[in-house]
This record gives sequence, structure tokens and C-alpha cells, in this order.
Amino acid sequence: MEPMESYVLITGASSGIGRATAVRLAKEKKNLILVARRQEKLSALEKELKPEGVKVVLRPLDLLDRKALEKMFNELKEFPLEAVINNAGKALGRDPLDKASDEDLQGMIDLNISAFLRVVLLSIPHLKKTQGHLVNIGSIAGLEIYENGATYCGTKHFVHAINQGARIDLLGSGIRVTEINPGNVDTEFSVVRYHGDTEKAKKVYQGYEPLHAEDVAEAIWYALSRPKHVNIQQIVIVPTAQTTTGKIARKES
Ligand code: NAP
Repeated sequence: MEPMESYVLITGASSGIGRATAVRLAKEKKNLILVARRQEKLSALEKELKPEGVKVVLRPLDLLDRKALEKMFNELKEFPLEAVINNAGKALGRDPLDKASDEDLQGMIDLNISAFLRVVLLSIPHLKKTQGHLVNIGSIAGLEIYENGATYCGTKHFVHAINQGARIDLLGSGIRVTEINPGNVDTEFSVVRYHGDTEKAKKVYQGYEPLHAEDVAEAIWYALSRPKHVNIQQIVIVPTAQTTTGKIARKES
């Protein structure tokens, strides 16, 4: 019997870092399972990946729908997972803690903590079978706290804690756990944060060259492509013009 082909599952594959990672991994001939809510974006990506000749499975779903998420992982038995890129996440608003809307705070907690953790937990049984690789996308916001961003930073500190905890608790399982912590990346992230205000979003990336999603995808591929006995625990990747979240060398235009 032919051995079953393995797959890399990517959450948040319809945009930004997740999308760029799908493109990068397809170039390495990795079969992909792509997860996000916007089916049309996933279908467009599938089309774009056709020339690479890899298998692409689309799983359009809302990660906040716990039942749908569990069903998807249960149905993945024919798709051995060599890696899971737990990437979907978001910031909502840029307000002082006591002025932020409940909706924004809860939205970040639901996706960046609850759904993120659920993906980790549902991935583990699959990755135990394959001695696979769990790549969690954190942020430099998980390593520091910045003004008017306490809850987003809190959710990314949670991601940081789970990365360390997973490495401790899964020791001996053969599963590798990698945390990728980017600084500013020019994606839909800021448009989402500012609730569709593209002018505000543009300003985040003005006066310097931010990271591009492809830069982060390259870092993810670096971690994935090390030999099995090498685990890259953490990659912190920022634009050259950035040190911390608030410290950016912007040029006047
Ligand atoms: P992005 O372009 O906004 O992509 C976010 C992805 O998450 C999209 O594919 C979106 O797809 C998906 N998503 C959001 N809510 C979802 C839900 N409920 N169910 C399923 N999928 C959902 O942002 P990005 O910059 O690539 O962000 C990716 C990760 O990088 C996030 O964890 C973010 O916190 C982290 N990060 C970003 C930056 C940055 O500056 N951009 C810096 C550090 C860390 P749909 O809308 O189609 O569902």
C-alpha cells in the first residue's frame, strides 16, 4: 500500500502571513489544508497554487465555531498532518484599557486565546502520530506591553505561554513547537484593527519599510525545514526600522 501523503494545515490562509506561507510551502511541494472564513479568497489562492501541482484542500470555517472546528479535525484522518501553522489572529482597536469596547476585547480573546488554544489541542493527537511540527504565530506584543494595546498584548502573552508549556508537556513526543514573533507586517492586520479605516491603517506602515508577509513566511519555512532533531523554539523578526512596537525610525515624506 502507498504511504498516505502528508499535509500542512494553515489557519488564516486567506490573507497576509497565512496566505504567503501557503504560497511559500507550495513552492516546496507541500500539500496544504487551508482554513479561513472567506471562501472566495481561499478559492482564488487555490487557483494561484495550481501550477505548483500540490494538493490543496479548502476548509472554509469560522474558528470561533467550536463544533465546526472539532468536526474538521475529526475528519482529517486521511490527511496526516506533518505541520500545523496556527496563525489566525487579530487586534481590534487601539484604545486605553478602560475605553476599549467590550466587543473589541472579547473579539480578541475569542480568536487569539480560545480558538488559538482549541487549534493547539486538536492538533496534538494528529501531530503525535506524525511526530509533526506545531508553529504558533505570536507577536512582539507577546514579549512586551505597549500603550493602548494591553488586551492584544495579553492575548499574545498567552500564545507565548502556551508555546513554552506545550514544549514542556509534549517533551518526548517528537513534536516540535515553534513560536514566530513578528513586528509590524504590512497585511490586512491594521485594516481589521481599525475596523476598516484604511487611512489609519496605512499610517501604521508609513515612513519605513515594514515586514512583508513573505518575510515571515520565509522564517516559518526556515523553522519547518530544519532536520527533525532541531527545534527552532522562537523566531523574533522585525523590520530593520523597528526595535519595539512603539520604537520605529520613520522618515518624513
Ligand atoms: P490578516 O492579513 O488580517 O490575516 C488574518 C487571517 O486570519 C485571515 O486569513 C483571516 O481570514 C483569518 N481569520 C480571522 N478571523 C478568523 C476566524 N474567526 N475564523 C477563521 N479565520 C479567521 O493578518 P496577519 O498579519 O496575516 O495576521 C496573522 C497573524 O500574525 C495573527 O495571529 C496576528 O496577530 C499575527 N501578527 C501580525 C502582525 C502584523 O503586523 N501584521 C504582527 C505580529 C503578529 P478570514 O477573514 O477570511 O476569516
